[in-house]
Amino acid sequence: MFQVSDEFFTSLGLIPMPDEFWKESLIEKPDNRQVVCHASAWDFCNGKDFRIKQCTRVTATDLVIVHHEMGHIQYDLLYKDQPYFYREGANPGFHEAVGDTLALSVITPKHLKEIGLLDESIPIDDYETSINFLFSMALNKIAFLPFSYLIDKYRWDIYDGTVDESQYNTHWWRLRKEYQGIKPPNARSEANFDAGAKYHVPANVEYLRYFVSTIIQFQFHRSLCIEAGQYDPLDPKKPLHNCDIYRSKAAGSKLAAGLSMGSSKPWPEVMRVITGQEKMDAYAIREYFKPLEKWLTATNEEMGEIPGWK
Ligand SMILES: [Zn+2]
Repeated sequence: MFQVSDEFFTSLGLIPMPDEFWKESLIEKPDNRQVVCHASAWDFCNGKDFRIKQCTRVTATDLVIVHHEMGHIQYDLLYKDQPYFYREGANPGFHEAVGDTLALSVITPKHLKEIGLLDESIPIDDYETSINFLFSMALNKIAFLPFSYLIDKYRWDIYDGTVDESQYNTHWWRLRKEYQGIKPPNARSEANFDAGAKYHVPANVEYLRYFVSTIIQFQFHRSLCIEAGQYDPLDPKKPLHNCDIYRSKAAGSKLAAGLSMGSSKPWPEVMRVITGQEKMDAYAIREYFKPLEKWLTATNEEMGEIPGWK
């Protein structure tokens, strides 16, 4: 799985994982000791030691996580010659978006077929496959947006005193209902602290980066797909969700040009290098999911469903 990911990065002309990476990374759960299994990527800041720690399982989900973590390392490698102070993402969301951007190509049915992970006989170009694929992607990416937004909203509400200690769990479920439209499966009380079940809360990792990443990875994807000649907004035969930038050196060098700047320039300038414009914007994620949005609008109308909640 790590070699498949490394091969995708290098097919774009990006930097291969160095020897130290293969020697020192922990990519399987050890059976002789306890480790923190939450996947992470590490830059040892000496220009050659970069590692991933992941208790990898052989699943499609983990294949995407492998690309996600390797995206962090690729970013570290690209800005390793910047002064120490600039060896960071243009903003934290950029760091989270690199591997996910590539993974948007990797998990297309077309690419999975190409690397032998999807049966040859399965049709991939028909409308039904597209809608099923987009639905599964939407459960990942769209359903994640309100969650990734509310984690830090929750913490800010606590730290600025909006919410009292006696309301910690109540407020958590208030936000979960308001933004995600979900309720707990059984009764909760202030004897519980459900937010603490999310790794990033006790580990004190800021979370808005994942919200930002989910928006901008589609902007990156769109721009790199145009660069690779794999997406044309005017050609219905080349929809954005089918694009695979595999082996496009042009796409790779565009991405590298932006990422190698590290944090030496304000993020809008890096955004301009990668996408041609300076704003974080939901146009690309909307464009990606357009066929599903149309299908949902028509189907909800047909079924008399009223989307949303109070
Ligand atoms: Zn990450």
